[in-house]
Amino acid sequence: MTPLGERLEARIAQEGPLSLSDYMTECLWHPEHGYYATRDPLGRAGDFTTAPEISQMFGEMLGLALGQAWLDQGAPEGITLAELGPGRGTLMADMLRAVAAVPGFLDAAGFHLVEASPALRARQRETLGDRAVVWHDAVGGLPADRPLFLVANEFFDALPIRQFQRAEGAMWQERRVGLSEGRLTLGLAGPAPQPALDDRLADTAPGDVVEVCAAAPGIAAEIGARIARNGGAALILDYGDWRSRGDTFQAVQGHAYADPFAAPGDADLTAHVDFEAIARAAPCAHAGLTPQGVFLERLGITARAQRLAEGLAGEARARHVTAHRRLTHPEEMGTLFKCLALHPEGAPPPPGVDP
Ligand code: SAH
Repeated sequence: MTPLGERLEARIAQEGPLSLSDYMTECLWHPEHGYYATRDPLGRAGDFTTAPEISQMFGEMLGLALGQAWLDQGAPEGITLAELGPGRGTLMADMLRAVAAVPGFLDAAGFHLVEASPALRARQRETLGDRAVVWHDAVGGLPADRPLFLVANEFFDALPIRQFQRAEGAMWQERRVGLSEGRLTLGLAGPAPQPALDDRLADTAPGDVVEVCAAAPGIAAEIGARIARNGGAALILDYGDWRSRGDTFQAVQGHAYADPFAAPGDADLTAHVDFEAIARAAPCAHAGLTPQGVFLERLGITARAQRLAEGLAGEARARHVTAHRRLTHPEEMGTLFKCLALHPEGAPPPPGVDP
């Protein structure tokens, strides 16, 4: 067992089971042992790879989509370009290179990153060189009175969730982390009503599991309020679907799925994103949920891929072709990952998304 696992076992033995949300928070953010708090988990040598780490084309497409949204809204001055959970800073760096082609955009923008991990902030600083960037611990710190152009890739999946299993009638049992023969295991709390899940009584039956991410609506509300008030657009990409269904809690370690209770603090823990909860909580307009593959194709990723391929040969060219496929193909990231776009009422949605 990891050092954090031993602490959690002792805590549960004393205080009783933890919600999955408390368990995820400890595993990801414990200051000494937390997964994100202490390391850079990305890349080939790390535990998982993300779209911007697969190819520069991902950030280029997102940057140009935001650039177009900015033009569509009359190219306002004094905007915020922001990213939630920027990882290594790769997506932001690729976006900045692409939007340099949109005259005036970079001069109009201040650059803001929302990142809670000291280890990853340091990595982002390296990637972005000496560009003036402001870091924030949470979205509430983003400028409140400026148009907000924002991206978030694989950010919402890292936010802690709770799980509830439908019981008889209108009751639910929370799935919580307890001990069985001294080892961390998932168990069920007693049945109780959950008024927040009233709207899920109609589409679930006893035994079904739903997931609730407490932090997501507040974050969506902060972003949506700025976009509604000052203009802007948000592109939120992640794995998930319109509505949470079933158990999607997962651990990834060394590029493979792992037991989420085997190595607390040493594995990435995530859950699929409930895009409906985000769209509902954002007090601005939203476009249709669009599969990532479709979104990137509409933005012209294939033309860009062909252009980049012209300068490549052999192994590098083969890697580039594989990367394009990974980002877009329905059997790879093309369908599982989706894009939700937020925009002001009365302004067109950013390009690439379903209306
Ligand atoms: N967007 C990057 C990294 C995804 S990993 C990419 O696509 O490669 C998730 C990122 O979100 C990490 O940078 C992590 O530190 C950050 N993160 C997760 N939860 C957070 C929170 N509650 N507040 C701020 N940052 C968070």
